Amino acid sequence: MTYRKKVCLLILVGWLVSAISLAAQVPKTPAEEARYTRYSQYQDVARFLSVLAARYPVLKVKIAGRTREVENYPGRDLFLCVLAEEGISEPAALNRNKPTVLFIASQHGNEQSAKEAALRLIRDLAAGDLRPLLKKVNVLVIPQANPYGNYFDIRQNEIGLDLNRDHVKLEGESTRAIHGVFNLYRPEVTIDIHEKGDDYYRVSVGCVSNLNIHQSLQDYSRNTILKEIEKKLARKRITFHEYLVSDVLGLDTSSGAMMTGESAREMMLRFSTTDLNDGRNSLGIYETLSFIQEGASRHDLASLEVRTGWQYEGLRALLEVVAERPAEILRLVRELRTSLLTRARLRSSDDPVHLKMAYVRDPEQPQLVLKAFERTSSNIRGILKVDKKAGDYLLAEDVAPYQGPTRLKVIDRVEKNWFPLVESRLTVRRPAGYVIPAERLELVEVLLQHGLRVQVLEKAALVEATGYRTIEVVPARADYLAPEKLEVQPEQLKIPLKRGDFYISCEQPGANLIPCLLEPQSDYGLIRYFRFNLVPAVGDYYAIYRVEAPVTLPLVDYKGW
Ligand SMILES: [Zn+2]
Repeated sequence: MTYRKKVCLLILVGWLVSAISLAAQVPKTPAEEARYTRYSQYQDVARFLSVLAARYPVLKVKIAGRTREVENYPGRDLFLCVLAEEGISEPAALNRNKPTVLFIASQHGNEQSAKEAALRLIRDLAAGDLRPLLKKVNVLVIPQANPYGNYFDIRQNEIGLDLNRDHVKLEGESTRAIHGVFNLYRPEVTIDIHEKGDDYYRVSVGCVSNLNIHQSLQDYSRNTILKEIEKKLARKRITFHEYLVSDVLGLDTSSGAMMTGESAREMMLRFSTTDLNDGRNSLGIYETLSFIQEGASRHDLASLEVRTGWQYEGLRALLEVVAERPAEILRLVRELRTSLLTRARLRSSDDPVHLKMAYVRDPEQPQLVLKAFERTSSNIRGILKVDKKAGDYLLAEDVAPYQGPTRLKVIDRVEKNWFPLVESRLTVRRPAGYVIPAERLELVEVLLQHGLRVQVLEKAALVEATGYRTIEVVPARADYLAPEKLEVQPEQLKIPLKRGDFYISCEQPGANLIPCLLEPQSDYGLIRYFRFNLVPAVGDYYAIYRVEAPVTLPLVDYKGW
């Protein structure tokens, strides 16, 4: 070997050694460090993010909120990871020529793989092979939305709240933090990460289904994004299906209300919920491409590594799909958001707001066939490649190895109660806005938590408004449910407003959300929650007044700073 060749070889070896040692330095996630023998906790997450942020300037970590301090449970920070190629973290500095994607993990504390996969995603975006995606997208991750739920391995948070049923009333610090982040950064794409029971389909992703969200978002989600995710996962031999929910036939239990005695009834299957109380529709209502991912899970440590892997591949696939079509996604979401403001201004009679919806069958597709696992009485030895009968010799080459879990065979399950469509049951014409009396400050505080613009009267004034007089009321059986029956008579009134009363205009990005929250007959409204005391008595007017056309009132922004 010549001297020159020797030098080249030395340089090559040196480069290889340094490349390998650099790769080795890429931090392991807390779960990888522990070889998936335990769930990572708040302190592990904080330490891991500290190391990553110190080393990789594309990652900035911010505090999005803090859990409420209650006895024995000191407040814990809720982290927001901002991953941008430009190394910035402030919303105004984000490069808006790229779509922004928000990932939210572990609202349900016992769905641990969501958090472990989110941490892996953050690491691989900051320091691993996902880094090039930051040329095409900005990424926001809330990796641990429920630290105490994670700690105790329970669904609820430290005050017993199911956070993913809290996106209308926003009682939880975590849900407030999620909406705070959304309002600051206005991501075009959001995904909320969960786990369900064990399932043949290892990754399920669901899209928006509330009828107020523009149909084109649901169509694009289903026909483009989910299709592409499925293809990418198929290449990795991970089974995928659009997310489906089974519920008691004739009932919608997605409100989060405590209901008993319904378990004996027949079940039905549908595409997730239309409710706005969850992390998907509640962000989708701002015309967002919003998703939920549900990973299959046996909820045990033995399966933690494999289920974290499925979740990770699902999230990675979504991000890659977005990064492959950034301009299309930006255009779709921006045009719909702009058009919603125009629709709120025009208040056309053929563009109402939907207040009640029902899941219905599709005559074109009366039933659905799904793959499912079925337990076998003994271990599966393999799959026969040839037809055999009793008395035949069984040869080694007659049997193909079985790839699935031992003692679980895959069957076709026919779902007869298949309700894939959503139909509107009650609509109202878009109003210009609503009047909320000064005494109802608790309602205004919730609207502000939603990031909505609320105004206050500087001095007394008269306003023409619609008052809802109550004709008949049958209260709900449980908190979180709309009244079983509420019949109201709209009446045109001239209402004397006093200084300190509030006005909320619908001409804002929450144009679809506001009527859903404030109308008395809404299935998605604040009236569902006992704490707001909004159910009127027969003969009384409902507390909130509806203003049909724009008015000139002595208003200033309330807490607009
Ligand atoms: Zn969940």
